[in-house]
Amino acid sequence: VRTGEFGHWWQTLGGPPTPRPRLPGAREFDVAIVGAGYTGLWTAYYLLRAEPSLRVCVIESRFAGHGASGRNGGWVSGFFTGPARVYERNGGPDAFRRLQRAMFATVDEVGSVIDAEQIDADFHKGGTLTVARNRAQAARVRANVADARAAGLSEEDMRVLETDELQAQVRVAGASCAAFSPHVARVHPARLVRGLAAAVERRGGTIYEDTPALAIAPRSVQTAHGSVTARWIVRATEGYTASLQGLRRALVPMNSSMIVTEPLPEQAWQEIGWENAQTMSDGASVYVYLQRTADGRIAIGGRGRPYRFGSRTDRAAEIPAGTVAGLQRSLDSMFPMLAGAPLAHGWSGVLGVPRDWCVSVHADAERGLAWGGGYVGEGVAASNLVGRMLGELVLGGGATAGPPWVGRRSPRWEPEPLRWMSITAVYALYRMADRLEARTGSPSRLARLVDSASGRH
Ligand SMILES: Cc1cc2nc3c(=O)[nH]c(=O)nc-3n(C[C@H](O)[C@H](O)[C@H](O)COP(=O)(O)OP(=O)(O)OC[C@H]3O[C@@H](n4cnc5c(N)ncnc54)[C@H](O)[C@@H]3O)c2cc1C
Repeated sequence: VRTGEFGHWWQTLGGPPTPRPRLPGAREFDVAIVGAGYTGLWTAYYLLRAEPSLRVCVIESRFAGHGASGRNGGWVSGFFTGPARVYERNGGPDAFRRLQRAMFATVDEVGSVIDAEQIDADFHKGGTLTVARNRAQAARVRANVADARAAGLSEEDMRVLETDELQAQVRVAGASCAAFSPHVARVHPARLVRGLAAAVERRGGTIYEDTPALAIAPRSVQTAHGSVTARWIVRATEGYTASLQGLRRALVPMNSSMIVTEPLPEQAWQEIGWENAQTMSDGASVYVYLQRTADGRIAIGGRGRPYRFGSRTDRAAEIPAGTVAGLQRSLDSMFPMLAGAPLAHGWSGVLGVPRDWCVSVHADAERGLAWGGGYVGEGVAASNLVGRMLGELVLGGGATAGPPWVGRRSPRWEPEPLRWMSITAVYALYRMADRLEARTGSPSRLARLVDSASGRH
């Protein structure tokens, strides 16, 4: 199995791209964005669409899409991280419901920009399945659908598929039922980020690559190759934020890892079904997430080693052998007929986790500093809405940019070694809860305890 090398998605495009030129010394712009992942690029895109004459640059330490945006599971999801109660503190339940609707609509917004900009990104909106693989997961799936209904989501937004209906769509071993929602699409992550970068350039934006920002200050960014001054500086560094001066405890880089098979033979697909390429996960606390790729592979991801001491990040998506083996076991247990199917690639990446697991968006007009993110594992679509919000805030508007995301603040993470100890313990306990559930068949109180102690749910 090939590993690292910035992940499978870039390998299907001939390997990571040759970086664009660096910042050629001191420059001045209207808006300077740090980080060329989805957040930075969507922000640049909407700014330039609204004001084509704006001078916008994106400063990137490696190459556009080098981070999570080029390595993820490709779920363009209308759902987002964090417990409703935290968001409701900033705007109330109605604002939260509007935000949920805005996120559902964001899946289609991503699809329509992909069309309009002719980005060949394998976008396909087949919805999503959360598959219950033991009795405890089934109980949780049903409870989650009931909770969603109580929170105002309709039968069309989310419903339970019983065994027969599920089997008619996809054959997962041991699956008794699933929750289905239509509000998720599949995408090829690296094609999307590459296409977005090109769309930003077509609209007159400048992307400097191989240019790590060392420090961000009001109206200026210091890099290894000179400084950029601008009326607005937007930080979009997500899982890498801890490496910036003064931001060590803002977001932790949490790991997620993936493997992908070689294209499967037609006969395997006949056994599995899965014709509509819904995205899929199981109902565990440490869940796995899957997509059927446009070229007939299965990509499956999960947590792996959750966190590296001191908020360190990888260089090129390296993955431990044990994580590859663990993901392969998950794949084999869901689809036993694939046991021994050849794998093409394994890789890892970091996503950004705020202390309260909730997204936030900020724009401080006095200092000319803005930032957005903290998506945990659900940033592909959310970064589009955040990019639109940041664009509006920077241009002085506020239509989409109301609460609950805007203006809320997450607490800082604990200093080390407490940070490492608590994150490691949370995932060890979640894994224990999953094992207990598989054995006993009843939803684990431990999982609920860890949910509320960690603030995740
Ligand atoms: C393995 C994996 C699977 C995932 N699966 C899904 C999924 O299926 N669906 C979903 O919604 N989300 C998923 N996520 C999360 C999602 O990928 C992220 O939330 C999203 O890509 C965040 O985009 P971003 O632009 O904010 O961050 P990133 O894509 O990480 O971009 C940040 C960029 O900033 C650059 N940078 C950092 N520091 C500096 C600096 N000092 N100077 C200059 N540049 C800097 C980095 O090089 C990077 O390119 C997954 C993440 C991982 C790792």
